Amino acid sequence: MPELPEVETVRIVLARDLIGKKIKTVAVTNGRAVRRHKSAKDFRTLLEGHSIKSVQRLGKNLIVGLESGNHLVIHLGMSGQLLHAKSAKEVKPKHTHVVFTFAQGDELRYVDPRTFGELYVSVPPPEGAEVEISKFARLSIGGEGLLLRRQIPELAHLGVDPFEDQIGWDRFAAILRSRSTPLKLVITDQDIIAGIGNIYADESLYASGLRYDRPAESLSTIEIRRLHRSIAEILTEAIKYGGSTLDDEQFVNPDGKPGTFQQYHQVYNREGLPCYQCRTLIQRVVLRQRSTFFCEKCQS
Ligand SMILES: [Zn+2]
Repeated sequence: MPELPEVETVRIVLARDLIGKKIKTVAVTNGRAVRRHKSAKDFRTLLEGHSIKSVQRLGKNLIVGLESGNHLVIHLGMSGQLLHAKSAKEVKPKHTHVVFTFAQGDELRYVDPRTFGELYVSVPPPEGAEVEISKFARLSIGGEGLLLRRQIPELAHLGVDPFEDQIGWDRFAAILRSRSTPLKLVITDQDIIAGIGNIYADESLYASGLRYDRPAESLSTIEIRRLHRSIAEILTEAIKYGGSTLDDEQFVNPDGKPGTFQQYHQVYNREGLPCYQCRTLIQRVVLRQRSTFFCEKCQS
């Protein structure tokens, strides 16, 4: 499943290629991809004829800002891809559900074999309307996150985005100290911290020497500072390498290029292989139906 670094990788390419372009037509061939709308026509009407002003991200959501003031929100789900084709002549991949054609003739295609992902147009609430924003996100002292949540109420529930919401380690500490659940469940809960999933949780926990099942509230100040720093470092590094593309999944950026950060994974998908630090074999356990990889010796 694409996580923050993969979505950010897509955002960077879309911002480079699409800002200033006018959406000429939108074709929806699988209504499930736009299921929040009462009809595909309703979705299309909100987009056709409008130009793209910005491309932002919050958690695992891409946010395409339109000149009209509305936002096209895209969540890639488990297997969604956005591909930028130079012209309609390029062969459409199987499972292409939505195609945006721009005035210049190029296309943005939404491809999703499992169709867990979705696209919708969010209309900003009227001036002065109350938007209930996540109590965790409200701890933010800067960044674009709060403004995005106010403009897009569908995303107001999202917890702290590690880049779009600035919270120091002390506020991060307050969040962890209020939870008794296993650390991994806290940092992958999108309503607490937005953007981290299975891969980057395991990698951040390894980098900070913490076990996945430590109750979040049990961390010392030093451990909290280490985790706070590791999350930012791992995500930054992963973005630099264009995200992770795994054997069984199919993440590619809009140019069709896979990421390479999987080459630098320390624990994720390395069950039975020696830890790079201590040579102990990496273990895999199942937590809430999902694999967790860790080193028994390096993480406590
Ligand atoms: Zn180790």
